[in-house]
Amino acid sequence: MKNRKIKINKRGSKFSDKPSFKWVVCSKCKAEEVKVSEEAISAICSICVQRMIPPPVFKSQEAPKSTGRPRGWQFMKLFVDQDGNVFHKGVEQPKMKGKLPPTDVKTNGKKSRFEREQDRLAKETKLAKKYQKKQEKKNGNSNRRKRTKKTK
Ligand SMILES: [Zn+2]
Repeated sequence: MKNRKIKINKRGSKFSDKPSFKWVVCSKCKAEEVKVSEEAISAICSICVQRMIPPPVFKSQEAPKSTGRPRGWQFMKLFVDQDGNVFHKGVEQPKMKGKLPPTDVKTNGKKSRFEREQDRLAKETKLAKKYQKKQEKKNGNSNRRKRTKKTK
């Protein structure tokens, strides 16, 4: 196969003038031919290379196992895990083990993102209704005013 684009070097001669490659048989399977430079002694074809290397590792495979502890438990002033291990700012306190009830991870006094979103929506609809009522009242008043006396 010839290259369509012919590179020309500074001296003006074409690289394609002198083919500097050769075909050698793969040294592993001895079936595939590989195009290599003339100085090369032996070559391994792409199929054999693929067989030689291990399969790629995906991130999901190497993800660490969840500890079952909430995010940022190391930064909590006091955290007690399900086994009763007590941590003070992420440092285990062996003396206190089993003396405190486990920290409730789920409630924790904080609302989830979904709950917060729901609260926000409820608040907004309430405000919208209030605003609408106010607007209606305002319009009603101005209409009445228009009838009696023209305002700006
Ligand atoms: Zn091969």
